[in-house]
Amino acid sequence: MSGKLIVLSGPGGVGKSTIVAELKKLPNFFFSVSATTRPPRNSEVDGVAYKFVSEQQFDRMIKEKKFLEWANFAGARYGTPSEPVDLALKANLNVLLEIEIDGARQVRKLRPDAKLVFLQPPDIQALEQRIRGRATESEARIKARLELAQEEMAASNEFDEVITNHHVDEVVRALVALAAR
Ligand code: 5GP
Repeated sequence: MSGKLIVLSGPGGVGKSTIVAELKKLPNFFFSVSATTRPPRNSEVDGVAYKFVSEQQFDRMIKEKKFLEWANFAGARYGTPSEPVDLALKANLNVLLEIEIDGARQVRKLRPDAKLVFLQPPDIQALEQRIRGRATESEARIKARLELAQEEMAASNEFDEVITNHHVDEVVRALVALAAR
């Protein structure tokens, strides 16, 4: 027996981390902590949402084949360390990777048994509001994220399931059901 590998993807700003925060209240899920080269936002603690690393540290992790997948996103690099994922799956936990589309594609190739879920916003305006709500970021970075989000939306047909983020509870229920299948 082994747990299920679930990839939760979707445009940046769609609300994936809110869903993850809710899922964290439930048992039997393991949440991968990604390494990233982007600087921490206000309340982010190192080792919780992310492990914040330098470009050099990230390079080293690639060289040492520490990543299951990694990708560039809006000027920074993000990667999933593979060892904790494999240990959790072996321990029969469901593993959730909250990652962007390129990473999801890599996981699809490497782990064909993974379930790929695309979370989409109810509409594009809702997404823009959320992205703009992150006042910590410069206008140039916000613009880049908006453009990326538009591109990302086009990838939904590559996923096993598409869930619209109308209500957090509904999305959580759908993911729990998927893990139990
Ligand atoms: P943010 O900077 O807003 O926290 O995340 C930006 C994007 O990077 C989000 O779409 C998030 O899902 C994605 N992301 C976070 N960790 C990883 C990872 O380990 N690998 C990949 N490919 N994407 C990630």
